[in-house]
Amino acid sequence: MTPRGLLVVIAGPSGVGKGTVHARVRAALPEAWLSVSLTTRSPRPSEVDGVDYRFVDRPTFEQAIADGLLLEWTEYAGNLYGTPVTPVDDAVAEGKVVVLDFELEGALNVKEMRPDDTLTIALLPPSMEELQRRLRERGTEGDDALAARLEVIAAQMPHWQRFDRVIVNDDLDRCVGEVLDAIAETRRRR
Ligand code: ADP
Ligand code: 5GP
Repeated sequence: MTPRGLLVVIAGPSGVGKGTVHARVRAALPEAWLSVSLTTRSPRPSEVDGVDYRFVDRPTFEQAIADGLLLEWTEYAGNLYGTPVTPVDDAVAEGKVVVLDFELEGALNVKEMRPDDTLTIALLPPSMEELQRRLRERGTEGDDALAARLEVIAAQMPHWQRFDRVIVNDDLDRCVGEVLDAIAETRRRR
């Protein structure tokens, strides 16, 4: 029998490096698979529909909720984000490591819904100054969107200790190593 897989929820403030870190984790772990969320946000120039997100309009998103197609969904800085449930459950049943890139509440909700299958990892920046620098350097948000994100980030800071692991993304190699160690240790214990 194939051992059950694992849901690895990587969360953390916008710009902390979640996308950068999980791309490296997936490159290192052939059985890792990134869940592709639905979102009503517009694609950034580098993003590809069906790879980074499935970009949909609000009525399509609301229909997916009504049809029970989403494991969970949330509104973040004015846009809707949600995870199709069937591919995630199928992948876990097949023994895969499913990587979910989520905001705070979605991560905690998944842990509550699938407690035995979920490892929650909070990625934190070395400092707020460094986080703002990374967000500005990424250059994907205008001033208003950036201000909205910084507001969310400040309000959420005290809540990250509720995660199974808190890992600081300072040196990228060390951070990726710690995430891989946390996944390996959790799989060994199951
Ligand atoms: P998120 O997915 O959390 O919003 P990204 O992965 O898009 O964040 O990273 C935000 C920016 O920070 C990117 O420009 C990325 O190259 C940079 N970055 C990520 N990790 C590090 C790190 N350890 N040190 C310096 N810059 C980093
Ligand atoms: P971004 O617009 O930067 O791609 O994502 C905004 C926030 O939404 C990030 O914190 C990201 O992790 C989160 N997010 C993306 N997809 C989902 C999802 O399906 N569910 C939840 N709960 N959060 C998501």
